[in-house]
Amino acid sequence: PLTAGIVGLPNVGKSTLFNAITKAGVEAANYPFATIDPNVGVVEVPDKRLDDITKIVNPKKTVATTFEFTDIAGIVKGASKGEGLGNKFLSNIRQVDAICHVVRCFEDGNITHVSGKVDPISDIETINLELILADLESIDKRIGRVEKQAKTKDAEAMAELEVLTKLKAGLEANQMANALEFTKEQEPIVRNLFLLTRKKMLYVANIGEEEVADPSANPFLAQVQELAASQGAEVVPVCASLEEEIAVLDDQEKAAFLEDFGMPESGLDRLIQATYHLLGLGTYFTAGEQEVRAWTFKQGMKAPQAAGIIHTDFERGFIRAETLHYDDLMAYGSVQAAKEAGHYRSEGKEYVVKDGDIMLFRFNV
Ligand code: GDP
Repeated sequence: PLTAGIVGLPNVGKSTLFNAITKAGVEAANYPFATIDPNVGVVEVPDKRLDDITKIVNPKKTVATTFEFTDIAGIVKGASKGEGLGNKFLSNIRQVDAICHVVRCFEDGNITHVSGKVDPISDIETINLELILADLESIDKRIGRVEKQAKTKDAEAMAELEVLTKLKAGLEANQMANALEFTKEQEPIVRNLFLLTRKKMLYVANIGEEEVADPSANPFLAQVQELAASQGAEVVPVCASLEEEIAVLDDQEKAAFLEDFGMPESGLDRLIQATYHLLGLGTYFTAGEQEVRAWTFKQGMKAPQAAGIIHTDFERGFIRAETLHYDDLMAYGSVQAAKEAGHYRSEGKEYVVKDGDIMLFRFNV
């Protein structure tokens, strides 16, 4: 499965956020695929639609879809030069599909900030610079290898060298690789380099408890938002310490807690949803008397592939998918009424699954 890594400087609230994730998360015992890796937290993806469908279909059980976060500890200034856990840290980032970059926006005199004062912009630049330097190093190595071949007029090597040269210039100008544009033909070459700064990224602004009702009251948030906007990245404000408290509550207590603090929803829930979308993931549902269940698919998948997520047999023997969209189910109030209005469709192998589709797969065994 795709996973998002949590990174950030020391003392910004990463462990607190990760504790919230594991406390809110799925019990390892209920999640047979869970690695025993203590750095991985598996959370359910909150989805109001799943509850709505459950109310209409009234199944014996409801199962949410899940999602993984990986805690990546240990980045410090100089990581790309091997400072701290430098190299291990960078190789851990290499393995994740997206980066959730936690920055400290809360003031607390008792908690030391690594650089002496709360300054999220400088923190972001510190980390991004380490990522940029690490990428530059791997690009330089690669250029050393490809250059000779390119001189022999080898077409493939020349194409790669062109990509590498562009990346090098961008990184040297302090740009992240994901800010650079490449042609369709170049895209696979870039992907093959597994660059850190090419990964999808969002910022988690760790704000104070007093600010959760109105995050804009935080003096640093606007700065982070501005910087993020220039990179086309999203910012999710959370208060990690509150999320850790919320994580152990049941649904009723959680609702009361959120109300007390004037929070429309939990920041962790928003973070999960934002990360899920950042990764290009979508949810489709299956709905039967036994079970209503949410499934994660990659946006753009066709029906047989999406069916294969449930079981490989569904993909191999795929015949068609009977499909009703969640919005239509809600508009008509029952499967029967939506069917009579013509919203229950039979889709074939070329159908591109939409977020919110309720699917029934027909297949040959
Ligand atoms: P890490 O080094 O980034 O993993 O940071 P930690 O999660 O260990 O947090 C560092 C310190 O900041 C701890 O004492 C936390 O209790 C505290 N902390 C984390 N999040 C918040 C927050 O949202 N508000 C306040 N006031 N303190 C926090």
